[in-house]
Amino acid sequence: MQLEIKDLTKTYSNGVRALKGVNLTISQGMFGLLGPNGAGKSSLMRTIATLQEADSGSVRLTGLAGEDLNVLTQKDDVRRVLGYLPQEFGVYPRVTAETMLDHIATLKGIANGRERKAIVEGLLQKVNLYQVRKKNLGTFSGGMKQRFGIAQALVGNPRLIIVDEPTAGLDPAERNRFHNLLSEIGENTIVILSTHIVEDVTNLCSDMAIICLGEVVAAGNPNDLVRDLNGKIWQTFVEKSEIETYRQSHRVISTQLKGGKTRLHAYSDLPLSGFDPVTPDLEDVYFAKITEKMEVVTV
Ligand code: ADP
Repeated sequence: MQLEIKDLTKTYSNGVRALKGVNLTISQGMFGLLGPNGAGKSSLMRTIATLQEADSGSVRLTGLAGEDLNVLTQKDDVRRVLGYLPQEFGVYPRVTAETMLDHIATLKGIANGRERKAIVEGLLQKVNLYQVRKKNLGTFSGGMKQRFGIAQALVGNPRLIIVDEPTAGLDPAERNRFHNLLSEIGENTIVILSTHIVEDVTNLCSDMAIICLGEVVAAGNPNDLVRDLNGKIWQTFVEKSEIETYRQSHRVISTQLKGGKTRLHAYSDLPLSGFDPVTPDLEDVYFAKITEKMEVVTV
C-alpha cells in the first residue's frame, strides 16, 4: 500500500501559500512529518484526510486489494479506509467513552449491534481504557483523551491513519504509552504522524520528511539523513551575549541552554576553530534543514 503525493499546492484566501508543490511517497509503517509551527503540516494532513481542497496536484492511495484511489476526488472511498486524529480533538464531556465510541461506530456504518459492541470493547481494551469505559469523557486526563482519540480513529479497521501533533500536552509516561500504541498500529497500515517534536520521530518512524514554509526540505530514512551529516556538525559553548557574533561568522543551526551556558551547534564541511566535532542526531538534521530554508531559528 502506498500514498503518493504529487505537486500539491494550497493557497488560502488570505494569500498564505501553505503548500508549494509537495511531493512525497509514503509506504506502510510509521511515517514522521516534521516541521515548525506554520510549516504546512496540518494543511497537508487535512488534505489527505479529505477535509480540505487542494488547489492543484494529486494524491493517490494504491495497493489496497489492487485499488487505486484518487484521494482528492474519491472522498467517500478514502473515508472508508481512513482514521484521523486531528490536532484539536474535542470530546463531548458528558458522554461516556463507551457510548461515544458506539456512536462513532454507528456513524462509520457498523449497523449490527453485537458486532459493534465487540468492536467497541476490543478498541477500549487496546487503548487501555476498558476500566474507565463508563466514565464521562470530560473526566479524562490529556493522555486518556488522546488514547480515546486513537480508539475512535481505529473504528472500522482503517488502512491509512493520520495523527496530527499527538503528544502536545502529554506527560512523559502518557507519551510513552501513546508511542507504544502507535507503533503497534503501524505494523500493517500507513500511519502518518505529524509533529514538531523531533524525538517522537526518532523513537517511532522508519521513514520521514521535513517540511518548512510549505515545501519538503528533506525526506528519507532518519538514520540515512543523520549519516549524511557525519563530520559536518560542530559544537562549542558560548555566553548568551556572544551568540549573535557567532551567527555572523558561522552557519549556526541551533543554540540550546545547558547548565547556564549556551550550547551552539554549527554546520560546516571543514573543522571550525574553537569547536569540537559531535556525532549528529536527528535534531541536527532538522535544524540544519530548517535553517537552510529560513534565516534565523532560535531554540
Ligand atoms: P502547521 O500544521 O505546520 O503548523 P498549518 O498547515 O496549520 O501549519 O499552516 C500553514 C500556514 O497556513 C500558516 O501560515 C497558517 O497560518 C496558514 N493557515 C492555516 N490554516 C489557514 C486557514 N484556514 N486560513 C488561512 N491561513 C491558514
